[in-house]
Parts: sequence; C-alpha cells; structure tokens
Amino acid sequence: MARSGRPKPLSVAIVGSGPSGFYAAEALLRDGGVAIDLIERLPSPFGLVRGGVAPDHQSTKQVVRAFERTAEHRAVAYFGHVELGRDLTIDELRGLYDAVVLAVGAPADRPLGIDGEALPGVVGSAAFVGWYNGHPDFAALSPPLDGRRAVVIGNGNVALDVARVLVKSPAEMAVSDIAEDASAAIAASPLEEVVLLGRRGPLEARFSQKELREMGGLEAAEVALDPGQLPAAVPEELPERARRLAERNLAVLRGFRAVGGGTGKRRRVRFEFFARPLAVLGRTRVEALRWERTALVDGRLRGTGETGELSCGLVVPAIGYRSRRIPGVPFDAAHGRLRNREGRIGPGLYCVGWCRRGPSGVIGSSKQDGDQAAAAIRRECEAGPEASQNGKAGRRGLRRLLARRAVTWVDYPAWQAIDAAERAAAPAGAPRRKFVTVEDMLALLERPSGGGGA
Ligand code: NAP
Repeated sequence: MARSGRPKPLSVAIVGSGPSGFYAAEALLRDGGVAIDLIERLPSPFGLVRGGVAPDHQSTKQVVRAFERTAEHRAVAYFGHVELGRDLTIDELRGLYDAVVLAVGAPADRPLGIDGEALPGVVGSAAFVGWYNGHPDFAALSPPLDGRRAVVIGNGNVALDVARVLVKSPAEMAVSDIAEDASAAIAASPLEEVVLLGRRGPLEARFSQKELREMGGLEAAEVALDPGQLPAAVPEELPERARRLAERNLAVLRGFRAVGGGTGKRRRVRFEFFARPLAVLGRTRVEALRWERTALVDGRLRGTGETGELSCGLVVPAIGYRSRRIPGVPFDAAHGRLRNREGRIGPGLYCVGWCRRGPSGVIGSSKQDGDQAAAAIRRECEAGPEASQNGKAGRRGLRRLLARRAVTWVDYPAWQAIDAAERAAAPAGAPRRKFVTVEDMLALLERPSGGGGA
C-alpha cells in the first residue's frame, strides 16, 4: 500500500537479480509503499545461485524459493534480458526511478599477474564455474580436459568446488544440475590428478569446514597431502574464532591420506600448501605451472627460492573476483568494486552485495547490504526535496523506453516457462536440464506452447 501523503509508491530499479538484488527487494518490500523493477541481463534470474553455487550443492540453491516468492510479489516486476549499457544507461535509469540499486556482483576473474597467464588452458574460476553451471557467457568455453593433471590455484571454497566437480563420478553428479556438455567432458577426460595449490599454509586456508570435510567422502577420488605440511598445533595467540576454525580444518586435513599411497580410485585431489605460482609454461597452450616454495615469516609470505614444475594441461586460478566497470558509475580499481560509502554511490544510487564490498562471505551475507540500502533509500527519499515530488515515471517509463528501442524483455511468467521446460527435461534424479544459451531460452518462448515474453 502506498504510504500516506505519497500519491505513488516509491519507484526502485534493482539491477541484477542475484541474491543481493533479491535481498534488497525483500528489505524494501518489508515496509511497503514501493514498486520494484528487477532488471537482469540474462533471461534467467538468481545470478550466483544459478551460475556460481556448485551444481552438486542443491541444498544451497534452495534459497531461490524465497526469491521466487519475492519475484511473484505484486509490487515487483521482472525485466529479464535487459542489459545496462546495451539497452539503457545508468543516467536513464536514474531519471526514471526514485532510487537505483546496483546488484551486479563481481563476475570477472582477478588476474594472477604472472607470465603465461594468457595461454590457452588458463581458465579463471569465474569462467570455469560458469561453464559447468551452464552460464550462457561460458557455454562455448570448452576448457582443455585432455591432460592428466589440472592445477587449481587458491585455497578458498571456490577452489574446492572446482576440484570436487572435476573429480566426482557421473553417478555422484547425476543428482546435480551440471550443464550436460560439461558433465560429459569431465566424465570423458583422462584427468587423474587435481592439485590444489595454496600460497600459504593449512591454517591460513579459507576453506569452510563443511566443504573441506566433503572432500574426504568422494566416491571416485582420493584426497592426499604431505602430512609434513600440517602444523602440529594451532598457535594459541590466534583469536578465538579463527583458532576454532583452524583447529577444525586441521583435524579434517589430518584425516586425508599421505601422498604416495593409493586406493585405486580413478582420480585424486592433492593439497599442495606453501607453493605460489610463478609462471604458466607452454608454447601454444598450458604445459606446466612453475611454482615457488613459500614460508611465512612473522606472518608474511616469503619465497624460499626453491622452485618446482607441475606438468598440466589446465590451470584454474580460483583467487577471487572483480566487478566490472559501469559507464557513469565511479569504480574502485584497487579493490575491483564500485566506489561507494556504506552502499551509497551518489544521490539515489546504491549498491549491494559483491559489487559493494568485494567477493566474500556466503549467499546470506548480502542480506545486511539489502537492509542498509533499503533504510538509506527510505531516508533519502523522505528527506530529499526532489525525490518527495514523486515525479519519476518508474515502470511505466521503463516500458516506454524499452518499447521505443524495440527491446523485448523476458517477464517473470516467461522465465517461469523456461524454468518449467528445464525441469521437464531433467534427466532421472537431476533437478533440471539447463538451457545454456540465451538463444535457446528465447527460442522456447517463441514456440506456441512455450509461454510468452513481454
Ligand atoms: P577466497 O575465499 O577469498 O579465496 C581466495 C584464495 O585465493 C585464497 O586462498 C587466497 O590466498 C588465494 N589467492 C589470492 N590471490 C592469489 C594469488 N595471486 N596467487 C595465489 N593464490 C592467491 O575466494 P573464493 O574461493 O573465490 O570465494 C569467494 C567467496 O565465496 C568466499 O567468501 C567463499 O567462502 C564463498 N564461497 C562459499 C562457498 C560455500 O559456502 N560452499 C562456495 C564457494 C564460495 P591468500 O589467503 O593467501 O590471499
């Protein structure tokens, strides 16, 4: 219901329909008196949940149930397949809405900054994860899986996801929504070993305990490490929480096998700590990774001068992400995110999630950003003399602008038709069979029984 004294509800455009966009919408809906338009580059919503969360972590993907309820709220409209920069500009959006919230995530890989990283066969985790998750940007990636070893750089949860998906058996992946081509390519690969390269030690690794423990229960892969790389104990001086986390992870790592022994499983994951990447080697494609042994001296990372080479056909840096620049929006290049102060970029312009604070935390970590953005929007719109005029055209204006440019958008019922078609095509045991190109999604909508776009 519109608030008293306000002829029209507050109009808000949220750009990006991943978790942070939905949390911002939820927070805005809580106080009512708002009309929200979710603008999404792809026909499909849910961002990182659909394209980033590992396909075998279906329980994490359940969060979309709540997002679906939000999308179906009468105050919310979905504009899929509408791209900021291509179909409309940030200034146009700001002119149309009382507030604009950017929830565009951090979709680009951070560069490694070493020689050889442009060689074919170096595939950043954003691209690699996108590929196996059926993200349309990476459907044609075709990463080289013809080698016997792959190296994943980084000791975070994304590195674990990549390693796990590479070594799980087709039977283990059957209950996932991995892209069909990726599943077939991984199953057919002669891959034997995935090395997880960490530049620091087990105590500094950013693995969650649950994800690390999961590695020990893989059906078709053993997990190995050099027990000599594990410390005898966790230093007392670590803060309480960090110490407990490190102790738990250390206990899990101690349960893994020593390198050398074998269980006869088809593949294996090897943890290699204290090794930093120096260069990717190869003439026309990746042939090896050169690394240097490191040590922590007073907590600082130091090279020891000892080097080694790992022959491999694929290198996946999983070292974090960056946001992309948006013309007309200030960018913090040092941190790879939008320049903002507690989520505020400028008058009527806000950001939430990874484009606000960088790529950290779990899905739910963006909730707080949404709450803060909603509160700030209310404050600003209620206090500001121009915003209180309610002169912005909002949804009506957006529809007019898109129609003028002959931009056809995918509305929420149209997405639901795509969703239903994916579910109906699911192989036995799997939740869905994903469309991996935008063209295929749009083609479905054009069929007489496929549901309608806007
Ligand atoms: P992350 O947790 O920040 O880990 C990045 C890793 O890359 C760190 O080990 C870091 O080492 C290493 N690194 C960075 N620059 C490097 C370089 N130049 N050379 C070698 N190593 C380098 O990032 P992430 O794994 O991409 O995950 C992003 C966020 O998503 C995290 O908050 C993560 O927990 C979350 N996530 C959660 C789940 C889950 O809950 N299941 C799944 C996936 C992702 P240093 O520590 O030495 O910098």
